Amino acid sequence: MQAFEATNFYFDRAASLMDLTDNMRTLMITPDRELRVEVTIEMDSGQIGNFIGYRVQHDNARGPFKGGLRYHPHVDQDEARSLASLMTWKTAVVDLPFGGGKGGMNCDPSKLSRGELERLTRKFVLQIHDFIGPDKDIPAPDVGTDAQVMAWIMNEYSKFHGFHPACVTGKPVEFHGSAGREAATGYGIFIVTREILNRLKQEIAGSTFAIQGYGNVGSFTARFLHNAGGKVVAVSDAYGAVTNPEGIDIPELDKHVSTDRKVIGFKGGDASTNEQLLTMPVDVLIPAALGGVFDATMAKAVQAKIIVEAANGPTWPEADEIFHSRGIPVVPDILANAGGVIVSYFEWVQNLQHFRWSLEQVQREQETKLVESFNKVYDLSQRKSTSMRTAAFMLAISRVGRARVLGGI
Ligand code: NAD
Repeated sequence: MQAFEATNFYFDRAASLMDLTDNMRTLMITPDRELRVEVTIEMDSGQIGNFIGYRVQHDNARGPFKGGLRYHPHVDQDEARSLASLMTWKTAVVDLPFGGGKGGMNCDPSKLSRGELERLTRKFVLQIHDFIGPDKDIPAPDVGTDAQVMAWIMNEYSKFHGFHPACVTGKPVEFHGSAGREAATGYGIFIVTREILNRLKQEIAGSTFAIQGYGNVGSFTARFLHNAGGKVVAVSDAYGAVTNPEGIDIPELDKHVSTDRKVIGFKGGDASTNEQLLTMPVDVLIPAALGGVFDATMAKAVQAKIIVEAANGPTWPEADEIFHSRGIPVVPDILANAGGVIVSYFEWVQNLQHFRWSLEQVQREQETKLVESFNKVYDLSQRKSTSMRTAAFMLAISRVGRARVLGGI
């Protein structure tokens, strides 16, 4: 099964519990537009580098397309399509005035120099600038991209369209970004983790956590959980895992990662593997790396009590069924990791108004929105005796469908 099929499986499962016509289903799952561009740059060696860039604009019934840009060797059309449609449902679940889009570049940013990365990004914008913009489609960071890449995008876009900081979010704070954006997805994971634990009569303090992925999302999640008294007993990245049953000292780990660029080799824990991390007996397992982590075999081996999906698309449908039948609650990606796009929305609003919010205001508004959305999804899942994923899709489908009907075809 491909990633886009998996997303549509979840869509169909929720739609089957609603009165959705076949026409409406087709309208809602088919992407509006798919761009595929060849991005050619001069490499530092003097050779020509050829890369393929994608931007999929899935649905804009509720507002401009919105979603990240991923730079990774696995990026392809199907992945971009799946992630773009997830963005449609995500922005609807948390009730933002956006649709869904996603894109990226098939490349390995770790093998590119800073100059190559900049040229690649600027050339990509050159190819797609007429299709993006503050009221059309607003990119943001994802795997392999960061605030610097967003700054280049804004600068390149402005050469064609003038000063429009709202054309991209996730920019550096000192370059029209928002306070709290960098930490936003991790902060959001922290909030929904606290909420699900509370519903199950547990607290962050004293609970145990395993986090796969120690990039932007995984590392901020670990910091917030650690600061609230949670025991982060395992973390990993692409190179391996580190475990400590007493809880990893996250500030010390951060010092190690800032010099070594990977978690393995950290003296405050034992070396381990990603597979071991995923099957550890913890209260909460948080996948925060790439998609497709849980297949049927892995789902049977998981020993965590709760799963909070920080990554996009970590669970294949057969694994989802197994988690459901085993009574393991899964807070789905379209709700759990929506903190990033919520604060992207705040950044967009601030840019349009040329006004700045304080970090306190950003985090307060983010928390209000996430808790409200969490409660709606959780309560719906209880009322319908279904999973939180199905409930989240039902909520999203009803909102996107309503906008389609009101706006007209
Ligand atoms: P990142 O590039 O900052 O970090 C990714 C991390 O995953 C790195 O530590 C990397 O080493 C690790 N990793 C890669 N391959 C791995 C593997 N095979 N096994 C274990 N670890 C591996 O990316 P990010 O921005 O933190 O995004 C992580 C996930 O969160 C992605 O699925 C992304 O789509 C999702 N997400 C990110 C945001 C955001 O605001 N950045 C928002 C919503 C969702």
